[in-house]
This record gives sequence, C-alpha cells and structure tokens, in this order.
Amino acid sequence: MIQKNLENIKSQIPANITLVAVSKTKPIEDLQEAYTAGQRIFGENKIQEMVDKYEALPKDIKWHMIGHLQSNKVKYMAHFVDLIHGVDKFSTLKEINKQAKKHNRVINCLLQAKIAKEATKFGLPFLEIEEILNSSSFTALENIKIVGFMGMATFTDNQKQLQEEFSSLKTFFNAQKLKTSAKNCELNVLSMGMSGDFKLAIQEGSTMIRVGSSIFGNRNYN
Ligand SMILES: *Cc1c(COP(=O)(O)O)cnc(C)c1O
Repeated sequence: MIQKNLENIKSQIPANITLVAVSKTKPIEDLQEAYTAGQRIFGENKIQEMVDKYEALPKDIKWHMIGHLQSNKVKYMAHFVDLIHGVDKFSTLKEINKQAKKHNRVINCLLQAKIAKEATKFGLPFLEIEEILNSSSFTALENIKIVGFMGMATFTDNQKQLQEEFSSLKTFFNAQKLKTSAKNCELNVLSMGMSGDFKLAIQEGSTMIRVGSSIFGNRNYN
C-alpha cells in the first residue's frame, strides 16, 4: 500500500518538487517499506522518535525535523539531522548553531513563517523574519544556514484562503531572495503543502511538500 501511495503522489508532482515522507507515529516497518520503494527523505516531529528511527534504519536516509522545537533537545539530533523546518525563534537558531559547531557541521534550517489565521499555529511574522536575516547576531552564526522558509496554512477547505496564504509566503520568499546578502542565508527551499493541500501549494510556488497520511495512512494518537 505504501509503495502504491508513494507512486500515486509522485505521479501528481513535478520532478523538481522534493517529497518529504512524514512518518511521525508510524512504526519502523512502514518506513522500511517506503525506503524499499525508493524514498530517502523522512520527516518527524519529535526529536527522540527521530533519533530512534535514525538508529534503526539505513544511514543514507535524510532526516527532516518538521515539528516545533524544544531547544534542550536539539543536541540529540545535531550529528545527523539534514534539515530543520520549524525554527521560529532566534534563540533556537543560536542553540542549533552551538550544537552544530560541536560536530563541526553546518545545519540547514528553514524559518517557519506564520501564514495561517489560526492563533494556535506557530511561526514568525514576515517582519520578524526580515529582522533576523538582517541582524548582525544572525550573520555571526557560522554553523547554521537558512536555506528557505516553511509555512503551514490554516486548517480549512476554503481554497481561496489557502491560495492566498501560500501565495503571500511565495511573494515574501521571492522578495527576501533578492534582498538578503548574509553568507549564512541562501534561500532555495519553500516548504509548504501537506496531504490535503499540496497540489495547491505547488501551484503557488512550493518547492518541498511534507506528506504523511496520504502515504502512510491516518495516524493514531494515544
Ligand atoms: C504531520 C505534519 C505534516 C503531514 O501531515 P499530513 O496531513 O498527514 O500529510 C506536515 N507538516 C507538519 C509540520 C506536520 O506536523
């Protein structure tokens, strides 16, 4: 089933779009099945769970942290994480930099922008992102690199609202791409779109989609 689902999604997206298979809460066997079907990028939202899966699975997998971050746990993934999507505080960026330095690495990060109207969603207002990218305390962080932005749209069926939220982030992304000159910032990735809205997100300029339930089935939380 997982292999079929992956094929089905890939048939709907252009080849230059990166597919992150969101495997949170799913057992190792499910990830192994996706791996066997050729999938190499997995997204998790809890650091400990990602560490356990990293240790159990082949080492050519790229692990993306897509969840909200607790700074005190960054150290557990600093030696292997490939991309951190959900950075929404400068202090978190500083902690990632500190941990990356210990491993002599540069960790790629996305700043999470707030595009949803819901108060519950995390993310930075566009203005605050701009302030971070232009600050000298940011440019001093040599062991992180901001490679783009991540956004989560409002949980709604309203296509027009979704379209506007995605499009606002794309416009901001394009503008920042032209403006920023910091050497630890190279904006190439726009992570937006999940199972329910990835087609619209791609239409509005996403370069990376995070798809969970359409690949692995619904999640059971307990
Ligand atoms: C769970 C999750 C996803 C995947 O959601 P689906 O609707 O199952 O595709 C994508 N992004 C983030 C940040 C998530 O937490």
